[in-house]
Amino acid sequence: MFRVKKNIVIPVFIILLLSLSILISNAAADSLIIHFIDVGQADSIFIQLPNSQTMLIDGGNNGDGSLIINYIKGLKKSNNKIDYLIGTHPHEDHIGGLDDIINEFDIGRVFMPKVSHSSKTFEDLMLAIRDNGLKISAAQVGQTIFNDDNIDLKAVILSPGRDSYDELNNYSVVIRLVYGDTTYLFTGDAEGLVENELLRQQLDLKANVLKVAHHGSSSSTGERFLKAVAPQYAVISVGKDNSYGHPSQLIIDRLQRDNIKIYRTDRQGTIIASSDGNKIKFNKEELVMDSNVLRDTGVYLSMVTLTGSVESVVISNNTADTVNLSNWKLVSEVGGQEYIFPKGTEIPAQGQLKVVSGRGAKAEQPGVILWNNSYIWNNDGDPAVLYAPSGQLVSRFPREE
Ligand SMILES: [Zn+2]
Repeated sequence: MFRVKKNIVIPVFIILLLSLSILISNAAADSLIIHFIDVGQADSIFIQLPNSQTMLIDGGNNGDGSLIINYIKGLKKSNNKIDYLIGTHPHEDHIGGLDDIINEFDIGRVFMPKVSHSSKTFEDLMLAIRDNGLKISAAQVGQTIFNDDNIDLKAVILSPGRDSYDELNNYSVVIRLVYGDTTYLFTGDAEGLVENELLRQQLDLKANVLKVAHHGSSSSTGERFLKAVAPQYAVISVGKDNSYGHPSQLIIDRLQRDNIKIYRTDRQGTIIASSDGNKIKFNKEELVMDSNVLRDTGVYLSMVTLTGSVESVVISNNTADTVNLSNWKLVSEVGGQEYIFPKGTEIPAQGQLKVVSGRGAKAEQPGVILWNNSYIWNNDGDPAVLYAPSGQLVSRFPREE
């Protein structure tokens, strides 16, 4: 009796286990998972495709190779192969770790723009590619990286569209990924010039998720481009306290004005977006930033004027205390110029501070700071905006809303 029971139980158990594992692997096979790996002031995006293939867009800085390798190897579904490897452009913060990654994994196809660079980092990458018997496919607009009709999965290259650019960033391989009803745009460090090229070519730029170009720099993510992409989600890969001031407050404001949910690797670590081809989910809550809401700090922009060849911005302190303006930011909203107040800048209680610019500007008396001798404000309707170091919007002149 005991024996009979055992004979039945074991096969049933095995069948159950088998069907369960089939269920699990099917579920996994249906998801697209995009990992925006936190590599500080750099990019590295690892993508697990629903057909079990993988794609890596960029490899962080030189020191990030092992971090990325360990991240990929540590994923639940192990990956020994990177089917598609993309080096968006030859800057170190994008190709730095790719040599280690190429030496570690089985690599399928390699896509890079057709441009070389004289850096050691670039040479190391070329050596790794050669030593592993790989070839580079020169990325250009119109190329299909893969197209799996069965599951409605496709990745196409939208840029570079020219043979040469002045700025290395503009060679960035721009990729649009489609899975079912969901779309994703990966932009490398492409700047406004490329965005305008893309707009002119009338390519389909629409994407649910936008990898914000160039770490959120104001050189990219122009208004028209953003309107054309019309994303619901924006991911910014950027390092904490980086020396470039990325992401630009202008870009954050622009994204927020369009009610785009923002994710940032410097604040939230690695960001993971996953999709069944229908809905998109993130591993983190969207970043809550109410910086666009004016906060009355008692400090405000009271005037922007042009007198002769001198432009002045007057900042008033309406409080009973001295206010320290170290690292506060004055921004010309249209022109995009930013002035960061040096350490130790103060406005006395009930006092004023003047920031001058323009050809005839000089800082000759106390309470006057010279920005520079260019004209910042005298193009009509360029509002001045003042931000606290937290990114909090403090004042705008002229006051509109
Ligand atoms: Zn970069």
